[in-house]
Order: sequence, then C-alpha cells, then structure tokens
Amino acid sequence: MGGYNSGGRNRTHRTVENYSRIDSFEFYMFLKGDKYLGYKSVVKYHGDDIVYYVENRSAVVRMGNDYCNLTLSRVPGVDGESVRMYFHCPCCGRRVRYLYDFHKRYICRRCLGANYKIQQTRGMDKLLRQMANILVKLEYEWWDRDNPGIQIFELKFIPKPKYMRWDKYERYLREFRRLQKEYDRLFWRGMLRISYIPADLKKRVVCHLESE
Ligand SMILES: [Zn+2]
Repeated sequence: MGGYNSGGRNRTHRTVENYSRIDSFEFYMFLKGDKYLGYKSVVKYHGDDIVYYVENRSAVVRMGNDYCNLTLSRVPGVDGESVRMYFHCPCCGRRVRYLYDFHKRYICRRCLGANYKIQQTRGMDKLLRQMANILVKLEYEWWDRDNPGIQIFELKFIPKPKYMRWDKYERYLREFRRLQKEYDRLFWRGMLRISYIPADLKKRVVCHLESE
C-alpha cells in the first residue's frame, strides 16, 4: 500500500534547492525559438504551468487550481540587441529569474523559504494525509497513474468505485473538495504572514480567500 508520499514522493525533508523551478531566461529562449509564434495566440510552457498570450505579450502562471497574472520584465542587454526576461513573483512582486514549484504554486525562492516553514507548522501535511485517506476509501490509486507529476491536492476527477452507493461516493467527494480548498486557504494564509510582501498584494490575497 502507498500513501500520499509513497514511491519517492516524500517531500518532508526537502530544501529549497530540491524544488523544481522555471527559469525566465529559458522561457524567453523558448519563445524566441518558436518561429511560428506570430501565428499563435496562446503558447503553453512547462506543461500548462505558464500560459503566454502572444498578442499582448502577457502571461499567467499556475497557482494550485487557478492562474494568476505573471508580470514579465524585458531588460535590454548592454549590446542593445539582446533581451533578458525576468518574472515577477506572483506573491511578493520581486523581479526574479526563477520561480519555484511549491505544490504547483509558483513563487520565488524567498517566498518558498518562508512558506516552507509555514507548511511544516500549519497542518498542510495533515490535510494531505486526510486526502489520501479518502482516496483509499474510494479505492483510487492515483499515485501510480501514468502522470507522476500530478499531486493529490490538484486531483479533479476521482471515479466512483463500482459497488459504492452514489450518495456515499458524493459524500466522500464533497469532503475531498473541502480539504482541497482548505489546503489552498492554508497556503494563502501562510503567504499573508510573510512580513515583506507589499500591502496591496496582501489585499489581493485577502480577496482571493474571501471569494470562496
Ligand atoms: Zn516572492
């Protein structure tokens, strides 16, 4: 039997360096290298973690099950020709080259470091275990599916076990969705506790929390 962290998925002792990241320089080269870019309206990068809108040269980045604006900076090089592209962290607004994948929420290294500690103390791990328990009841072995990148807190579709009554199945699903939302809320509440995040960004986070 596995759990949410079985099969090499144990993330509890990771350091910031172990998180996968998106590199804005590579993203820029990716866009430059696409000779059909001018014919497209939308480009996806890193799976669909970044969605780039060609016409207005803007992008959004994945935040759990949602997307939020990803501000891009294009900085001319000293030669006057080359361009370096940077991301702005969706949480603190700082200009950075790398955004780190914190459970499919893309944030800068500094926000990741702060949130990593919060995650240890604020019960996000417990929520993951509760989600895993529900999946056991639903007899759904999501962790050895073909797509190893998928995470328990972003699962959308869970099939009904053949012999389970519908009302029971729906009860489990409701509970699972509730845990997923709570997980998202803990993440954002954690971000609110980080002192260096500008007040206007915090205001947006509060809106996000209240919209659910
Ligand atoms: Zn940040």
